[in-house]
Amino acid sequence: MEPDSLLVRGLVDNPSGGLSPPLDRSTTFEREPGGGSPYGRGHAPVAAEAEALLGALEEAEATVFASGMTAWTCICLSLLGQGSALALATSGYYSLEGFASGILERFGVEVRRFDARDRDSFRRACDGAALAIIETPSNPLVTLTDIAGAAGDAHAGGALLCCDSTFATPLLQRPLDLGADLAWQSATKYLAGHSDVLAGVVTTRDAALREQLVWTRRTIGGVLAPDAAWLLLRGLRTLHVRLPRQVATASELARRLATHPSVAAVHYPGLAEHPDHGLALRQMPGGAGGVLAFEVADRASARHCEEAVRLVRRATSLGGVETLIECRARVEPEGRVPDGLLRLSVGLEDVDDLWADLTQAMPRGA
Ligand code: PLP
Repeated sequence: MEPDSLLVRGLVDNPSGGLSPPLDRSTTFEREPGGGSPYGRGHAPVAAEAEALLGALEEAEATVFASGMTAWTCICLSLLGQGSALALATSGYYSLEGFASGILERFGVEVRRFDARDRDSFRRACDGAALAIIETPSNPLVTLTDIAGAAGDAHAGGALLCCDSTFATPLLQRPLDLGADLAWQSATKYLAGHSDVLAGVVTTRDAALREQLVWTRRTIGGVLAPDAAWLLLRGLRTLHVRLPRQVATASELARRLATHPSVAAVHYPGLAEHPDHGLALRQMPGGAGGVLAFEVADRASARHCEEAVRLVRRATSLGGVETLIECRARVEPEGRVPDGLLRLSVGLEDVDDLWADLTQAMPRGA
């Protein structure tokens, strides 16, 4: 089945004949005569159904977790240990840096930081490392990394490659086809899609890696609860309708923002003038995603814009049905992102209404 049909139909029939999946909240299950006794840290039927569907989308095995960061925790606990090295970009989703410096380094993991725009720096970081993580498109500057190139470099250095594909989803990008060993997503974002559930997912085609992830998840209790898994499945039913619309609206807003007098720069690889546009066409043929960022003059102008919007919501996160705006300098460590940067996660509202809202919120005379 094509992804669109798969997402709507799902893979598991409800024994009641109901069209939505059964929600079994049991945390323990009756022992089979002579058999085991499944327990909720290792067994949740509705989460397994979400895994089957997410795995089928990428022709891989999927493992779901309590959040995106729980997924990353389980990847690190499975693959890193005292004295091993992780290659990590100095840009991208900033909680990874907090996790690396606040937790991994405390436990004796060597964290080798690389510049995501400099391939030699990536190669050096991968040499002898156990694991490398790339994020493409990246949060919040929406830069791209060549996944096939990164996989070649990571493997040459002896490292496994994990690709954070949260901004893309399997509908826009397939990291495993390009050589990544693990594809990771915060399912909180586009997959669930309604700003009402935390979830994470990792896909891989390596059965031993998958087994390690499941073991770690069971051991630390990082499972996705049945209600959250049910909501994730509910969200997935419409992913293929939501995402293309978000991509189309993001592309149009990026084009309009690029000519607005108050806008100093637009970060969206779908724009022909973006340095990653060629890579976007090759690696993300379905479009460059539903998140863009743009810069106004300074932090005060960005805060003005954020506070003046009426239809767009002032909120963090991304990938939901509502358009969200955020001045990233307010949440990221000093100097990590431009002061006037606004991240826009484009939702499902009318494009002209969004444009009218953004333009009325722009700082005057900036
Ligand atoms: N990766 C990216 C690119 C993200 O933007 C986020 C959250 O914002 C995460 C991972 C972490 O996911 P979660 O919030 O589900 O733990």
